[in-house]
Amino acid sequence: MEGGPVVTRFAPSPTGALHLGHAYSALRARAFARMRGGAFLLRIEDIDGARSRAEHVAGILDDLRWLGLDWDGPVTFQSARLEGHAAALDALAARRLVYPCFCTRAEIAEAASAPHGPAAVYPGTCRDIDAGPRMGEAHAWRLDVARAVAAAGPIDWWDEHAGVVSAVPEAQGDVVLARKGLATSYHLAVTVDDAAQGVTDVVRGVDLFDATHIHRLLQALLGLPTPRYRHHPLLVGADGERLAKRRGSPSLASLRAAGVEGPKLAAGLMKDIAPAGYSIGRD
Ligand code: GLU
Repeated sequence: MEGGPVVTRFAPSPTGALHLGHAYSALRARAFARMRGGAFLLRIEDIDGARSRAEHVAGILDDLRWLGLDWDGPVTFQSARLEGHAAALDALAARRLVYPCFCTRAEIAEAASAPHGPAAVYPGTCRDIDAGPRMGEAHAWRLDVARAVAAAGPIDWWDEHAGVVSAVPEAQGDVVLARKGLATSYHLAVTVDDAAQGVTDVVRGVDLFDATHIHRLLQALLGLPTPRYRHHPLLVGADGERLAKRRGSPSLASLRAAGVEGPKLAAGLMKDIAPAGYSIGRD
């Protein structure tokens, strides 16, 4: 991948309105590609049919145009690539690196709030059950992370800020690779699609740093190339809380409606200057 043309992407999920943090991320990804004469892609991550909305897709395109942020080639939609995701899942299933999980959200929450183990990690309830008789029931597919790590051997990845990072996907537990009724998931789709689109440099917020351990593992298992990662600091409010978590973070649409000039806002963000009341967090 060294020396080849740079390809970056902005990959929003159309499940809500974009906020300033999205603008910052998209601008960084585009600037990186432009500075190296590369391509900047726009991929709509709309695999979650229940939460994705056409009006949010339209809003994303309006917001980006308002910022003066153009992209290369057609907008791509992850929902059009489900076959690629399914093929990847099949390849992992053939190696018995995934297993069906029948747990409900409530069961997982209850098991995970037990006094041992980190709260967010799946406790492995379905890992060793005899799933055969239950395959007619709705089920997700989870990565058997211990088996997967053993199959992949030691792996690492490179991040612009963190340098060479030894992958420790085990810390994420047996993540979901195909959600109930969906046949794909964020982790699977993003990994497969970044490779399919020839993304060389993943520019995204540091909130996705931990997810990269899983993406790197999936790349190793599926024989996909590993992009360079450039996780950037997040935009935070005056209280230091990141925007996605704050109540009432203004959407780009509301700033636009309030008469804020998109290109000016974009020019500031490109120089790491956040609007009043916000700052760029530390790495
Ligand atoms: N679709 C993801 C999100 O909206 C981002 C995917 C990525 O950049 O890896 O948070």
